[in-house]
Amino acid sequence: MKNMKIKEIMFTENDIDGIVSELADKINSDYKDCQSLTLICVLKGSVIFTADLIRKLKIPDIDLNFISASSYGDSDISCGEVKFESVKEFNVSNNDVLVIEDIVDTGKTLKKLVGYLKGKSPKSLKVCGMFDKPERRSVEFEPDYIGRSIPDKFIVGYGLDYAEKYRNLPYVAVVEEETV
Ligand code: 5GP
Ligand code: MG
Ligand code: MG
Repeated sequence: MKNMKIKEIMFTENDIDGIVSELADKINSDYKDCQSLTLICVLKGSVIFTADLIRKLKIPDIDLNFISASSYGDSDISCGEVKFESVKEFNVSNNDVLVIEDIVDTGKTLKKLVGYLKGKSPKSLKVCGMFDKPERRSVEFEPDYIGRSIPDKFIVGYGLDYAEKYRNLPYVAVVEEETV
């Protein structure tokens, strides 16, 4: 594991609050006639984003669910394998479903997850990502909502980790290898 240090702050706490509010406004408007929504938070990176976003949503019944997807180990390079595990069974068929993801990178995780969920016949299925690195896409995948597109840099904070560190930072930062 490499020693990393914070190189620059990309989004402050204030920036993040503005981005989440913009996303919530769009979702509230698109789902204004929706009574109940099955929300799927992709662990662990999306927990903080999900917690902030759901408190700004006006849909009457939100059923909050968690699924864990792993494609990255303690490294910043994807091994290409995606595995899913749901914390508890949840119902998708005939429900409006919204997947909440921290960041879309190669697109492999969400493409696989969306394929899996579609097989369960949801009434509707959309994906909301806080961040997107479109330059890194290796499979065809387009999220329905994106907070901000960012350049190809490895970011941490606001739920995002490097080897399980930095998730608790209230801002989003770029990390780089420490040189001695
Ligand atoms: P994908 O399947 O799109 O390649 O990978 C998505 C997952 O990789 C994200 O949900 C996230 O966990 C991880 N990931 C991708 N880019 C970054 C990044 O810049 N920083 C961190 N901390 N994780 C990332
Ligand atoms: Mg993730
Ligand atoms: Mg990670």
